[in-house]
Amino acid sequence: CGIVGYVGAQPAAPILIDGLTRLEYRGYDSAGVAVVNGKGTTCVRTVGRVRELESALPKRLAGSLGIGHTRWATHGPAAERNAHPHRSEDGRIAVVHNGIIDNAGAIRAQLEKEGVEFSSDTDSEVVAHLIARSGADTLEGAVLEATDRIGGTYALAITDESRPDRIVVARNGSPVILGVGEGEMFVASDASALVRHTSSVVHLDDGELASVTTDGFRTFTKDGADTGRTPEDIGVDA
Ligand code: GLU
Repeated sequence: CGIVGYVGAQPAAPILIDGLTRLEYRGYDSAGVAVVNGKGTTCVRTVGRVRELESALPKRLAGSLGIGHTRWATHGPAAERNAHPHRSEDGRIAVVHNGIIDNAGAIRAQLEKEGVEFSSDTDSEVVAHLIARSGADTLEGAVLEATDRIGGTYALAITDESRPDRIVVARNGSPVILGVGEGEMFVASDASALVRHTSSVVHLDDGELASVTTDGFRTFTKDGADTGRTPEDIGVDA
């Protein structure tokens, strides 16, 4: 239902929680965050309000990069195991997803045949496994491969603890925007989650992807060609 992301110099967790709180009006049944630092990924998910997620977070959660999600269940009941982020078996990749992947059943059957153990009932989890099993040598390349396999609607934000400097974003039929700050970048499914941080935003088109780091962003198509977007001002004071 809702997506947020942050990469910068500040602790990510409070910014993610604030963004998720601002998306609460859209409705949801569960919520979660993944925070990445040089040591790995911490993932916390809860059924219920963002406030409950906040109190479930470890007191000291170091990391200035992360993604968060509020879920409106389409595949599998509202349960902690179905809350996002979803991760690869080794925990390296974390994925938040809005939308419906309509060929997830077939991909899941294929991955299970190859020995992958799923930990949720969602359509979204296939994305984490596809990325983790990609032979591509960049996260961007692995996400491109995964988005070639999946059909349906998605806004995706993805982290990789072996590349703890970036969030990769993909859009097809579900909204997602980037917010441009000074030495920090934001990702959100809805401008209301980032207007208090910046008024400079980048809208992605369907079929477009982005790689987001502290210093900025690169947008590209499914063929890997740069789309060279420039930010626009949405006219709200940060
Ligand atoms: N289809 C996904 C799920 O059921 C994402 C739902 C959403 O957009 O919140 O988990």
